[in-house]
Amino acid sequence: MRIAFIGLGNMGGGMAANLAKAGHKVVAFDLSQDALDRAKANGCTVAKSAEAAIKDAEAVVTMLPAGKHVAEVFRTNVLLNAPKSAILMDCSTIDVATAKAVEGEAQAAGYTMVDAPVSGGIAAADGGTLTFMIGGSDDGFERARPFLEKMGKAVIHAGGPGAGQAAKICNNMLLGATMAATCEAFVLAGKLGLDLQTFYDISSKASGQSWSMTSYCPVPGVGPQTPADRDYQGGFAAALMLKDLKLAMEAAQAAGAYTPMGGEAEELYQRFVDRGGGARDFSALIKMIDDSWIAPAEKS
Ligand code: NAD
Repeated sequence: MRIAFIGLGNMGGGMAANLAKAGHKVVAFDLSQDALDRAKANGCTVAKSAEAAIKDAEAVVTMLPAGKHVAEVFRTNVLLNAPKSAILMDCSTIDVATAKAVEGEAQAAGYTMVDAPVSGGIAAADGGTLTFMIGGSDDGFERARPFLEKMGKAVIHAGGPGAGQAAKICNNMLLGATMAATCEAFVLAGKLGLDLQTFYDISSKASGQSWSMTSYCPVPGVGPQTPADRDYQGGFAAALMLKDLKLAMEAAQAAGAYTPMGGEAEELYQRFVDRGGGARDFSALIKMIDDSWIAPAEKS
């Protein structure tokens, strides 16, 4: 199958490589020459323009930063140049309103389109173990599934247009709030004189357990290997967590939902990013919650 892949950054680069590895002809386009060079080295064919990538595609995958990029690429390119028979899949994390609007325009133009955001970071994109949450029709889901299965370990139909994005931001709001609470609990445990490994051993088997604690512990040397053990490098950047929390808060406001914990998490991550923590893994929030965690060199 000939697949157009637009957006070959941290996530899209590995995803496109996995589609090529599975035997598809992947015609790739990105604004960045470095990204195109990497795609070529990973078995993709590089296109000179988005139009050239899309023309004759049987499937189109986009993995772009935010809603404005997705709206622009679809309105000025994909919906003008792709064959009507192509299945369109946007895997970016964007706001629900833009996802619904673009999918509505695609449908009106005679296309089948799904929103298919992912959970799992760069390692999962490279390893083909992402979880996809799909918004769109039953037919769209069935047509998208064989492509997405080449890039992920789970492909789940969340509901109609925009439902994949809704599931993604609700999940990440929960993740942001549980990570903040987990950081607070470890800082308090330390101040109360508890050994942090002992607290982990207890809480990971008690009712305070969560993914943030047992799979992604923010304390170096405690629990499984996590970004905390690499001085919070790599992993899921705090700036991206802030982006997802902002999307969740916008959606909550539009839907009239009361989300005070999500709001607190957004405020905490905003402060952390303002202090220069945006590029660090999101579990580095613990360094702001108790600044005795910050090395003297970083404080000055
Ligand atoms: P990235 O910034 O590394 O990659 C985005 C790519 O899109 C860049 O290479 C950029 O040049 C390209 N691009 C932008 N506008 C374009 C255009 N008009 N035409 C062609 N290419 C264009 O971002 P990323 O980390 O790969 O994330 C992509 C999406 O995946 C985001 O929506 C993000 O929220 C989501 N996501 C990221 C992670 C993660 O851990 N990085 C995890 C889950 C979801």
